[in-house]
Amino acid sequence: MLDLTILGSAASSPTPERSLPAIAVRIDGDVLLLDCGEGTQRQMMKLGVSYSKVQAIFVSHLHLDHYLGIFGLMETLRLNGRTQPVKLFGPPGSARVFARSKLLDIHEIEPSSAKLKKPLFTINGHDVYAFPVEHGAGEHSFGFSIVEQDRRRFHESKAHAAGLKGPMFSEIQKKGSLKVGAKVVKLDDISYIQPGKKLVYSGDTTYCKSLVKAAEDADLLIHDSTFSEEERELADERSHATAADAARAAKEANAKQLLLFHIGGRFHSPEPLLEEAKKVFPHTSAAEDGMKISL
Ligand SMILES: [Zn+2]
Repeated sequence: MLDLTILGSAASSPTPERSLPAIAVRIDGDVLLLDCGEGTQRQMMKLGVSYSKVQAIFVSHLHLDHYLGIFGLMETLRLNGRTQPVKLFGPPGSARVFARSKLLDIHEIEPSSAKLKKPLFTINGHDVYAFPVEHGAGEHSFGFSIVEQDRRRFHESKAHAAGLKGPMFSEIQKKGSLKVGAKVVKLDDISYIQPGKKLVYSGDTTYCKSLVKAAEDADLLIHDSTFSEEERELADERSHATAADAARAAKEANAKQLLLFHIGGRFHSPEPLLEEAKKVFPHTSAAEDGMKISL
């Protein structure tokens, strides 16, 4: 079971309505953080996300607005007696940036495509992958996908009709078929593969193909939407996406749902961004701090 809480949805600097970027993803009780902007620990407290359950933090890129909250959160955990390290996955340079926090177990993401094919981290039947995005030359920026592993499910009525009971369920999964009474029962005849859910977070980025590929068939795509098309030049200059860019990525990726995120400070209401995105991709909503979504 995966659910998420938007802790902060602002771009660059906080506003009265929005805190800096951070998303808490809860998987069977454990918590992962996607970015951890300034103020994250207070947002966690307000929104009922437990500090003590944080197992790993994924930093999309090394701009202050995406990671300043880590230091305070680690200090609070240390004061509360935590000794078990929190894993941190971040771009090259993370070891130096986070060296002061002794509670962190730091892993720099290796940008080679061979390395990125493997999960960075696995927890409760979910794999976390990083993929490169485009947020200005010379700096490594990543998005992340959290993918539930596919699970085999039994058609209950078929399994019972075939005479399967108790330990036979695990036995047939191991062997692929099983002799029950006089008959041989095939696993594929009484079960099916349920594809896992997929959550994709862009981090800060322009529209980019590597994201579209990573977000293929995602159940939810959370995408940078700092600007509107009216500010096209600024978006290009600062390597951010417009709402229309985010919608185009969601459409090309065949995502089920799009959540506009990293909302530019001039949008006191996200309506103009929503309107722009929905013309391209109707299943769009805009992130708000405190929003909770279950997949
Ligand atoms: Zn940012």
